[in-house]
Amino acid sequence: MQLHNEITAATYFVIALIVTLVAGDFASTFFYHVPQHLWFTLHLRTHHDRRRSYFDHAVLSTSPAILLDGLLGAVPYLAVAALLWRFSWPGALAGLALGQLHVWWRHTSQLGWRTPDRLRRLLRPLSIVLPEDHDGHHRNPDIEFGDIFRFYDAPARALMARLAPTSRRARNACRRATRRVPARA
Ligand SMILES: [Zn+2]
Ligand SMILES: [Zn+2]
Repeated sequence: MQLHNEITAATYFVIALIVTLVAGDFASTFFYHVPQHLWFTLHLRTHHDRRRSYFDHAVLSTSPAILLDGLLGAVPYLAVAALLWRFSWPGALAGLALGQLHVWWRHTSQLGWRTPDRLRRLLRPLSIVLPEDHDGHHRNPDIEFGDIFRFYDAPARALMARLAPTSRRARNACRRATRRVPARA
């Protein structure tokens, strides 16, 4: 009975940990990250601020706008962890901790980190975002979506393509085009 309970608790722990990361990344990607890229400026002004190193604004900075972007991006993970709390709070907490470690790790390319081949071979089939992948998102903000899992990249890009006509970029382009018309007339 005792052993059975321990096995059950361990299973719940693993399930809660995985669900916190997978569902948290899903919610953060589709309800925060993609909408920010389409319609808002906070994330672009902070996380994609090219005037400073992204290690600084992802890990070190204490500027309020940068912290707000980080917090809003973390809310979906926290919500999923809260839902899983009674199922296995240690698993939900471990998921959040691993998620935070992954934030730090995925920004280490600028510090010169290169993922060793063995680790890369291990993580590729799990579709886990490597620092090199996330570096791609900082170089080109239109690619490499998904904080932790790369399988969210394709659906995120497809969604962004569908919603592109409604984006801030499209609105601004339209505004610039209409502004140019009277000049030409
Ligand atoms: Zn980043
Ligand atoms: Zn982004």
